[in-house]
Amino acid sequence: MRHTIIKNCKIIDGLGNPAYKGTVSILGDKIVDHKNLDSGNADVVIDATGLTLMPGLIDVHCHSTFDEPSSNDELFFHRREGLAAIIASQNVKKLLQAGVTGFVDPDGIFDVTIDLRDAIDSNVIQGPRMLCGGNALLTSVGGTAGRLIPDRGLRGYAKIVSTPEEIKTEVRRQIKNGVDWIKVHVTGLLPRQKGKGEVQAWSLEELKLVCDTAHELGVPVMGHCRNAQSIKDSVEAGMDMLLHATFMDEETLEKVVEKNVPLVPSFTFQANLADFGHRVGANENLKEIFRKEIEESASMLKKAKKAGVPILCGSESGFSLTPYGEWHYRELEIFVSELGFSNLDAIAAATGMCGIHAGFHGETGIIADGKFADLILVEGDPSQDVTILKDKSNIKTVFVGGKSADLTPNPERNQITGWRVSQYSSKTLTQEATSD
Ligand SMILES: [Zn+2]
Repeated sequence: MRHTIIKNCKIIDGLGNPAYKGTVSILGDKIVDHKNLDSGNADVVIDATGLTLMPGLIDVHCHSTFDEPSSNDELFFHRREGLAAIIASQNVKKLLQAGVTGFVDPDGIFDVTIDLRDAIDSNVIQGPRMLCGGNALLTSVGGTAGRLIPDRGLRGYAKIVSTPEEIKTEVRRQIKNGVDWIKVHVTGLLPRQKGKGEVQAWSLEELKLVCDTAHELGVPVMGHCRNAQSIKDSVEAGMDMLLHATFMDEETLEKVVEKNVPLVPSFTFQANLADFGHRVGANENLKEIFRKEIEESASMLKKAKKAGVPILCGSESGFSLTPYGEWHYRELEIFVSELGFSNLDAIAAATGMCGIHAGFHGETGIIADGKFADLILVEGDPSQDVTILKDKSNIKTVFVGGKSADLTPNPERNQITGWRVSQYSSKTLTQEATSD
């Protein structure tokens, strides 16, 4: 087995403990106790003076099969299964370049998430350690894409289930196919109630049925929830992780604390839109909505953290506002600035806590004996300032399972016909528009 020693580095363990100077040994795909090994026999010795060794980032909310759509129309109607899989296999390399060594993909188009995970697992392609959901479960109320969602069947990443029988059958089908997670779109948008935000699209009984069916087969369930009642019912139903979990009230918070359900606020998408949306022509109305979501949810999330609830980093990468490899670090930055996390706590929220609470069974995200050697060597010290991780040139080496990843950039891509939704024009050609 290949034996690598990394010496003279600052070490961040991924559990929130202070950084320390030391040496780490990798034997095969695991971190081992260096004291039992003679460094003279190592295959590779890396002198990491001036560098920090830390667990690679784990992004627990990354849509690896979407390929950065700028609209629901593009996402739901302009993706082909085979090409999506080929492109996703290139996009995961961008995650590695940004120091991401693990991710959870909640839901994917067709069955591409499952195939991508199997391709990475079996070393057909190189990518971060991956866990996946299949198609997100929606009721006929729909999700966040309004009437683009059909009344039944599959479209894009969404599977519409209407009866208890359909719910059970679909959960079992996905588990048969090998998903690591079941994902439920618990809230969605209704056209006539837009001002009220997302409404709950599932009954408590239906949510329970999803959880019971999945749990009987040993698979956890996550929910997309954007209001207090939906979070409360999801916790009550037995969900294992909640995405967004925004707009909680005190009663809901109590439930979350009691069951200690991990929360993944996923503020990066909102913050990107609020801060930089104007640079990429984003809708001004959305800007205010998303800025408010962060502001109004911060105090409850702070309370949740104080009560010991795991708050995990997920960037919602995969959209045009959150392209692959660019913003995975940003959730840490927001946890520091908006939720009052220390730099070390933010790192733990993006490494060790994800390893423990997001389905990886504590086998990654932590520097300790017997854990997977999913590690990054970073120029500078992120325990003093997490924004060091923004600059990819600071990510010097990335190990996944002890193997150092190829970080060379992907070839530049040309336009693919029918992939990005094209526009005839940016304005309407009235007669008036033709005169000077
Ligand atoms: Zn998402």
